Amino acid sequence: MSQTNETDLMDTIVNLCKQRGFVFPGSDIYGGLANTWDYGPLGVELLNNIKQAWWKRFVTSREDMYGIDSGIIMNPKIWEASGHVDAFHDPLVECKKCHKRFRADHLVEEQLGESIEGKSLKELDAIIQAADLACVNCKAQEFGSARTFNLLFKTFIGPAEDSKSVAYLRGETAQGMFVNFKNILDTMRPKLPFGMAQIGKAFRNEITPGNFIFRTLEFEQMEIEYFVKEGEWEKWFDYWQKEMDEWVQSLGILKEEYKIREHDKDELSHYSKKTIDFEYDFPFGGFKELYGLAYRTDFDLKNHIEKSGVDLQYFNQQEGEKFIPHVIEPTFGVGRTFLATLLSAYTEEDAPSAKGGTEKRVVLKLPKHLAPYQVAVLPLSKKEELSSVAKELFKGLSSDFSTEYDETQSIGKRYRRQDEIGTPYCITVDFESLEDNAVTVRDRDTMTQERVNMNELKTVLKEKLA
Ligand code: ATP
Repeated sequence: MSQTNETDLMDTIVNLCKQRGFVFPGSDIYGGLANTWDYGPLGVELLNNIKQAWWKRFVTSREDMYGIDSGIIMNPKIWEASGHVDAFHDPLVECKKCHKRFRADHLVEEQLGESIEGKSLKELDAIIQAADLACVNCKAQEFGSARTFNLLFKTFIGPAEDSKSVAYLRGETAQGMFVNFKNILDTMRPKLPFGMAQIGKAFRNEITPGNFIFRTLEFEQMEIEYFVKEGEWEKWFDYWQKEMDEWVQSLGILKEEYKIREHDKDELSHYSKKTIDFEYDFPFGGFKELYGLAYRTDFDLKNHIEKSGVDLQYFNQQEGEKFIPHVIEPTFGVGRTFLATLLSAYTEEDAPSAKGGTEKRVVLKLPKHLAPYQVAVLPLSKKEELSSVAKELFKGLSSDFSTEYDETQSIGKRYRRQDEIGTPYCITVDFESLEDNAVTVRDRDTMTQERVNMNELKTVLKEKLA
């Protein structure tokens, strides 16, 4: 991570994201919409690379995983069966003076440093009053009574806005998988244990969104529902914990930057018997949830059987038995992956300055397969004889690598810009190239440069980026 201190680091990252086209504030020309963000050209590349790496690792390289892409709007009965209509809520309190609303649990955790998971609303009120907690916005010390707030986003299907036409934007991608479980059994004939996987948007009407893209109202999830025999759930829970651990490290996140925390009994979601969180050391308030791993038992399938009347049991032909599989759920937020990966990659170094002495060099040391651009082609000057060669080179490289072409500003400034957006290799075409058919390949992390013949460039880059 950087040499910038923790409080500045978030501002630095938010600014870099805005300046370099990773993430823009949402609806900006209309004065914005609080806590909404749009991904720009570089952001969308990083986001896609994260999702592709995840899909490749957990879906296409495995024999036991089936990918799907289900609807965002589904039959509202699904959310009743899943328990989300009744139990997917957070405790809310409102400041009596400025009327700002807060999550009561976050308010207590932040000001008293203690977890109050599982406490009743009455108990929460008592704690808030006894400790004289202050409003984060106006510092007043008077709050209304705590009440529950459902996180599902409601909408209406068709022209009538009545209770019969209520629908929900999905609060998690998981339910799309449970309701397609039978389709997978019938079409793919999988053998236990096997999994279903999905990447897609989820929506939550969060009481206190914020901290940049950490907590937003709409976000993407990469989720797996892994179906196992009940008696084997512990073995598969451990297995997925290791898989998730390896994935975290593949993002360039160091061991000391995250930890694993098991949920207390009264902190568990309504569907879970055991959950652990992978917590990343974010610059705002320390370790916070990056990912979750939950043992969801047979809760979801059982409820969908009951409410839909459709048999969702698995038939084990060898043993001639029918049963409801149990579920291990590894879940990964895409936005939080994006943020943690950027934070871990952000580095400031002293580098030799063109004017003599040293200057600060900002480098995004992203894993090479995640970098928005893998290669940048930079002609030394805009002169036609160089740019024609460089453009030809760009054409050839861009079919194999995500490549950028840049001929503006001095070469030193262009190197710094590529460092800042994490491009692993810069290719410089200079006047010598016209004589020897070779170019300079510069390494982002070491800044070392080597001459490579243009005929061998693709092979060399493929090896370096492998
Ligand atoms: P939190 O405790 O932070 O609210 P959660 O436990 O409700 O998170 P899950 O239901 O386990 O989250 O969701 C799976 C993953 O989706 C989380 O690990 C996180 O990466 C991501 N996620 C959840 N809520 C949000 C949100 N509002 N904005 C961005 N990402 C989110």
